[in-house]
This record gives sequence, C-alpha cells and structure tokens, in this order.
Amino acid sequence: MNSNKKITLIIFSMVTLLTLIIVALVAIGSRQSGYDSAKKRAYLTADIVKNTLTSHMINGNMNQRDVFLNSLERLRELNELWVIRSPRVSEQFGNSNFANETPRDEIDKQVLETGKEKVVVNESIKKANLRITIPYTASSADKPNCLSCHNAKEGEVLGAISLTFDIQEDRMSSIAILLNIIAIVILFLIFILIFISKKIKPYTTSFDYITEVLKQVHEGNYTIRAKEGILKEDKEAFMWLNEIIEKLETVLTGIEKNLTSFVHNRATNVNNDKLLTAKEIIEDISEIYNYKKTIETDLTKDDIYYRLIQVLKDKLEIKSFYIFEEDLQKDERKIIYAPKGKAPCCSIKKEIRELCRAQRTDNVISSETFPEVCRVASCEAPDDYTCIPFNINEQKAITIHILCEDKACIHHNKYQIGIIKKYLEETKPILESRILMDVLRERNLVDGLTGLYNRKYLDEFVDKTMPKELSHNTTYAVMFLDIDYFKMVNDTYGHDAGDAILQRLAKTMKSNITNNEFIVRFGGEEFLIVMRNPTHESAKELASRINSEFGKIVFNFNNESFSKTVSIGYAFYPEDTNQFWKCIKYADLCLYKAKETGRNRVIRFTKDILKNGEKEKY
Ligand code: GH3
Ligand code: MG
Ligand code: MG
Repeated sequence: MNSNKKITLIIFSMVTLLTLIIVALVAIGSRQSGYDSAKKRAYLTADIVKNTLTSHMINGNMNQRDVFLNSLERLRELNELWVIRSPRVSEQFGNSNFANETPRDEIDKQVLETGKEKVVVNESIKKANLRITIPYTASSADKPNCLSCHNAKEGEVLGAISLTFDIQEDRMSSIAILLNIIAIVILFLIFILIFISKKIKPYTTSFDYITEVLKQVHEGNYTIRAKEGILKEDKEAFMWLNEIIEKLETVLTGIEKNLTSFVHNRATNVNNDKLLTAKEIIEDISEIYNYKKTIETDLTKDDIYYRLIQVLKDKLEIKSFYIFEEDLQKDERKIIYAPKGKAPCCSIKKEIRELCRAQRTDNVISSETFPEVCRVASCEAPDDYTCIPFNINEQKAITIHILCEDKACIHHNKYQIGIIKKYLEETKPILESRILMDVLRERNLVDGLTGLYNRKYLDEFVDKTMPKELSHNTTYAVMFLDIDYFKMVNDTYGHDAGDAILQRLAKTMKSNITNNEFIVRFGGEEFLIVMRNPTHESAKELASRINSEFGKIVFNFNNESFSKTVSIGYAFYPEDTNQFWKCIKYADLCLYKAKETGRNRVIRFTKDILKNGEKEKY
C-alpha cells in the first residue's frame, strides 16, 4: 500500500470514528429530550387533573368526574389516563363507584405506598411508549388547602395519576435528524477525502519514489535513479539523492574493477551488492597481505605449507583437500597434506606430467563440469573433485586436490578457486626462495661425485635428527665400507677410473637401501651406511648383499677387465655402545679387522676386536 492510500485511510477512519461518536451522542440526547418532553406533558396533565378534580369537589359534582377524565383520554399522544384513590381517601369518602380508580398494577401500588413517581419506557422497533405514575400528596400549602377537606396528614398520599404517552413520533423525528447529520457528514467526508488526496498526493508520491529508490540501493542496485518529483520543493532533494547514488556507483565500480584483479572474482560471484563486494575485496586483500607478511618470516618450506593449510581450512572453510607437491624434474609427486579419514580421488605418484590432467593442461579440473573429466581419478562415492594446479618454478609445482560430498560444498568451493589461486600466487615467491634455500642446503650436504650425503650431513643428523628419533626408541646399525686396494686403481688406470668405481659403489649401495637407511661418503673411498631399527640379520644381510653385488661387477679400463671388492665392518647402537661416534669407531675397527684378515669381508663388532686397554673401558 502506498503512502497516499495509507494517509487517506487513516484520515477516513478518524473522521468516520468522529462521525459515529457524534451520531451516538445525538441519538442519546434526542432520545432523552423525547422522554423529558413527554414527562413535562405528564406533569401538566397531572396538575390539570388535580385542579379540575378539586373544583369538582368544591362544586359538589365529583360524581361526574368521569366525563372530564374520559375527555382527556381523547387527547392526541395521550394513550391512557387513569386516576387511583388511596385507601385513606376511600376510608373518608367511601369506595369509588368507578372501577378504574383502583390500582391497576404493581407500579400504581408502589407509587401509592412510597409517594414517589415512577417512569417506565416500553420500546420496540415499531412502538415507543412512556408510562408515568405521579402521586398526589396532601399539602397544606396547596390552594385550596388539601387538609381542609381530607382527613390526612401533611405529605400523605391521597391518590395518583397514571398516564401513558405515545413517543414514537418523537423517536421518528430524532431518527430523521440523525439521518440528516449522517448524510451531511458523509458528503463532508467525501469532500475532505478528495481534497486531501489531491493536496497530499504529490508529497506521498515523492516519498514513495524515494522509498523505492532507497530500497533498490539497499539491495545493491546502484544503477537506479529517482524520477523527478512533481513539486518544486522535492526537485532538489531528488537531485541530491541521485548525485549520492551516482557517486556511490562510480566509487564502488572503481573499487571492484581495480581490486578484483588482486583477489580474482570470488566476491563478485557471490554478491550482487557492490558495497558488500568492495568490503569483501578489501577484507580479502587485508587477509592476503597478513598471510604474505607472516610467511615472509617463516623459515622453512614446511612452515609455509602449514600456513597455507590453515588458510584453506579455517579462512576459506574448505573441509577436505589434499596438497600435492610435484617434482617436475623427477616427474614425481608427494603428499604434503592429507585430510583425516578421506582417501584422495587421485593416487598417482609418478609420471605426473602425463597422467595428471590438471598439471598437463595447467587448468583447474573439476568433475562437476564433466563427470570423469580426469580418467585417472577414481573417487569413493559420492565424492566430487576439483584439482587446482600451480607452478612454483621449473622444478616444483603444487596441486590442490579438493573433495566434496554434496552440491553445497561444490558451490562453496567453486567461488574459492580464485582466492585460492591468489593465496598460491602470494606463496609462490616465498616458497620458491625456501625451496632454493633447501636445494642449496641439500647441496651443501651432498657429495658431488657420488650424490651421497657428506660428513656435514652426518654431523647434522647426529645433532638434530637423532635426538628426535631416539625419543621414539629408534636403534641404529652403522656400517663402515672401504674399497680394497683402491689406490692401485688410481695408480694403474688413472684417477677417472677410480672416480667411476666410486660412483659404481655408490649406485650399488643406493639400490640396496630403503627409506630406513642413508649413506654417507665419510672419506675418500670410505663410506658409512646408517640403518634405523636394524636386526642382527637385516644388518648382516645388507652388508653381505652390497659386498657380494659389488664384487661381481666387472670394470673395463684400458682394455682390461677386472673386479673390485669392498670390506665392511658394522656395529650396533646402543647395543654395542651408547655413544654414536664410538659406534662408528667400532665399525671402523671391524673394517680394519676385515682388511687385516684378507679383505672382501663383512665383520660384525664383537668385544674381542677391542685392544686390551679399550676392552677394559668397554
Ligand atoms: P686398502 O685395501 O688397505 O684400503 O688399500 P687402499 O689402496 O684402498 O688404501 P687406501 O685406503 O689408503 O687408499 C685410498 C686411496 O683412495 C688414496 C686416494 O688416492 C684414493 N682416493 C681418495 N679419494 C679419491 C677420489 O675422490 N677419487 C679417486 N680416484 N681416488 C681417491
Ligand atoms: Mg681402501
Ligand atoms: Mg681407505
């Protein structure tokens, strides 16, 4: 309902209410005045009757009073009239010879008894009567003095007169007055309504325009403009309003255009209100800025991944996702983050560039757009997947693998892709620098010739990693390896041949170890293998295998074929000693023993290897 109708309705209701009150008051007033005039007539008639009957008494023709009384009944509006004698008068003058002078009903009796007049109104739709019974009381003040003829006391009831009047005519005239009032008021009301409607319409129309425009602006439509009002006064107001909306539109469109590029179009897609969009974009930018500032001070790649996981989980509210890190050189993938109790749709580990559709196409791949879009992916029903690829540098890439069980999740995640990419973009340079640092660090810890870890790595392992592993009750075996008569190779075939043999031994060792072991180039042609949680058998087995495999290799240099052997000594930590460096020493002693006892041998540490002095300390 527009405001014009509302105001008209309010005024109409108020005037109608006022009219009803006036009509009710007039109706009550005219009814009362009808009764009052009937009562006045009754008093007048009662006085006339009293005086006439007194004259009849004085003139001695009281027995002809019926002629007079009957003549009164013929009066217009007077329906009935009868006079009643009190018992006191009957006692003095004898009973009346007229039958109608006795009380006719309870009202008559009550009035004779109490001396108080009684008025009764009988009304129905068609008829209206007023019955009044007025007592005649003895009074010495009357002229002639009542007490001069009547044996009665002052104030005693001598009789009463009952009259019934037809007041229907009064009532009809009151109704006519009321109808006239109502008709006049209705006419007046119609006039007022037309007048009000015409006079306030321009104002209410302007108000309605403004309300509608503000409603649209509130809902985010900044293209709307207010139509010009009818009145001169509101033209200015409309102009200002339109100017404000235009300014808002320009500013917000500018914000959206300029800032969306920073955070992609996530916000635009979920909200039509430019103001809210601007707010969201600014919030996104500030959160991304904070994120960047935080990861800039993170030291390791793991810390950065940890923050990224937090952002995806807490800020972007992505429930189930994996982060894969791809090594583009080795064409391998490893899992950086996995959600609890949820299997990925994609479990490939190698040949990523060929098998991973997201990495191959460098595009976001979603099973929502095309079921089974990636032939490699196989999900546990009812999961859907989205894969977001992101290249860090020529060596490394990331894939975010998002899983969804329902449509609401897919819808939510769809609009997070842009912002996820933005976070990845911000992560990229910092992650790249940490990866580079890791590579440099790794290089520093790796021997150039063999690709095996160097002594520095062993030092770091003993200082940093080992204490952590020991807290999990890890045990170790240390193996010392040395090529037999190696110097001879250098002397006979040259240094390059020696290098090739070292590389070959490294290869043989690498191919025989698992993630539970690592190899260190300890010196020139001396190597260490550290085994985690070994058994006597597994250690012996590994040493023997390397010894045997290496011994079988045939080398060809200067058109000569020959084989080389390796001697190995090993000891257990903490079984043989509770000092790790001592354990290395014990392995070295075993190696020495192997050399002494003919070479190409594998010897496990036993106490008797120690010299006498050391035996005592052991
Ligand atoms: P043994 O059976 O007693 O071990 O005899 P061996 O000839 O191997 O004696 P030793 O261990 O003393 O010889 C080590 C030689 O390894 C000396 C050095 O010339 C050679 N060597 C050390 N590092 C390198 C390297 O990086 N490349 C090459 N080609 N030779 C190396
Ligand atoms: Mg040697
Ligand atoms: Mg040596």
